[in-house]
Amino acid sequence: MYTNNLVKSSGYYTRFNFVYTVACEAQTGNLERMKRYLMRNRHSWFLTRVKRAIKDYDMIPRGAKILVSVSGGKDSISLLYILFLLQHYSHLDFQLEAVHINLGWGEVDTGPLEALCTKLDVPLYLKSYPVASIIQKRGEKSPCALCAKLRSGIVNSIALDVGAGLVATGHHLDDVVETFFLNMIFAGQLKTFLPKTYLSNTGLTLIRPLVYVTEKTLASLREKEGLPLIHNPCPYNGNTKREEMKDLVSSITQRYPDFYDKFLTSLQNVSFENLWKQR
Ligand code: SF4
Repeated sequence: MYTNNLVKSSGYYTRFNFVYTVACEAQTGNLERMKRYLMRNRHSWFLTRVKRAIKDYDMIPRGAKILVSVSGGKDSISLLYILFLLQHYSHLDFQLEAVHINLGWGEVDTGPLEALCTKLDVPLYLKSYPVASIIQKRGEKSPCALCAKLRSGIVNSIALDVGAGLVATGHHLDDVVETFFLNMIFAGQLKTFLPKTYLSNTGLTLIRPLVYVTEKTLASLREKEGLPLIHNPCPYNGNTKREEMKDLVSSITQRYPDFYDKFLTSLQNVSFENLWKQR
């Protein structure tokens, strides 16, 4: 059972600093020039890779409606902001909405997220689901796996309710690498997640536009743009096997600084004939 307290929050279109600058330029008739300037000089450092991933995997068809799953951490907040920029300052044509699920781990202040969505004029759905008590009752050994499964189920059901064909999540390049090592070290499998997945049971498509972008880039973006964060009160937060993988990847990148790019190239350059006979 879950609490169905769906709340839609939308508001006036209040602009961020750069959008405000664009508006001022618009008054003097220089809007197009300003937009081009902003795209070239301010956002190109992180948008280029996002646009390439979207293009490489044909993620966003024309006229699509995208529901962004926003936990409130830097990854999902950055994704929301990046998609907002792409919606307004790229050739991509799509609608954008957001959803946040309260998982029941404790008090969560969604005020900053609601304020951001109001500023961006992105409709936000707030929903509660007792994931915490389900995990605690079951005494789950892998709480994050069950949590992710339950959360994606509820996000998908909201996407269907609001008529969104695409669900976007903030998984980035570090997640790709860490998931690869998690599977190899703990499950004995050579795999990670895909940039785009069609879910045949729902007809939805899951997209991960940030798969070419590192976590460090997103942290820097969040800081530079002053994007808010929502504290996650979950006791498992920062205390998972994934954290161990972060340490592992960090030690590799210290020794081999271009590891991320090499890893990405490797994923797209698999020598299938040299893979061993499958059991
Ligand atoms: S850290 Fe907590 S909130 Fe995050 S996935 Fe794991 S169980 Fe869920």
